[in-house]
This record gives sequence, C-alpha cells and structure tokens, in this order.
Amino acid sequence: MENCLFCKIINGDIPSTKVYEDEFVFAFNDIEPQAPHHVIIVPKIHISSANDINEENSKYIAHIFEIIPKIARDLGFAENGYRVINNCGKDGGQTVSHIHFHLTGGRQFGWPAG
Ligand code: AMP
Ligand code: ZN
Repeated sequence: MENCLFCKIINGDIPSTKVYEDEFVFAFNDIEPQAPHHVIIVPKIHISSANDINEENSKYIAHIFEIIPKIARDLGFAENGYRVINNCGKDGGQTVSHIHFHLTGGRQFGWPAG
C-alpha cells in the first residue's frame, strides 16, 4: 500500500529497529516507547484496522498472537506479564492506518486505561 508508514517499514524503505520477522509478521521497537519494552507488531499485508479483519486475513492476526509470547520471552518480560494494545479508529486513538499491536512490558500498568 502506497503512503503507508508501516508498509514502508516492512519493505525497509523507512528504517526501524527490528525485533522479529517471519513470513507473516514484522515487529520493531516503537519510536516513542511508553514502557521499558514497547514493540509494534504488524502483519506483512496491509490491513487498515481491526474493522478490516475477515475470514481471509485473520490467520495473520492469529499468527501475531502466536508470536507475542515468543517475543515477550526473548525480551525477558514474559514471566512478569505484559500488555497488548490495539487502537482502532479515531476514538481508539489509532494514528497509523495499518493494523498493529503494541506489546508493552517491563513495568506494571494501571487499569482501567484512560
Ligand atoms: P497508534 O497510535 O496505535 O496508531 O500507534 C502508532 C505507533 O507508531 C505510535 O506508538 C508511534 O510512536 C509509533 N510510530 C510512529 N512512527 C514510527 C516509526 N517510524 N518507527 C517506530 N514507531 C513509530
Ligand atoms: Zn500498510
């Protein structure tokens, strides 16, 4: 998808700090981390938001959730726990229109979120 920041990161047109990559997903450090560990995980196909998950592309999302505990273990915060966030649309606070999951760890988070 042209003019998509995360498609450009996946293609290597914009640099990122890669944390994990396979056939289906790409993960990199958030440029403005909100926790000691803050990884952005994206599917390698352009899905705009959670509203666009469907029968055909949901395997990419399922795969992301298989990879999350692996990344958390590799970075050493799996045992203490972590928070996974997806912001969808305007009210959800989504700023980049390529679905992504924030994997945050290394500190304790409050609840409910603001
Ligand atoms: P959201 O607000 O859920 O759409 O999240 C977008 C996230 O992308 C924010 O946490 C940004 O800090 C992050 N971000 C924006 N540009 C970059 C970039 N070039 N490299 C890494 N993370 C980025
Ligand atoms: Zn994209």
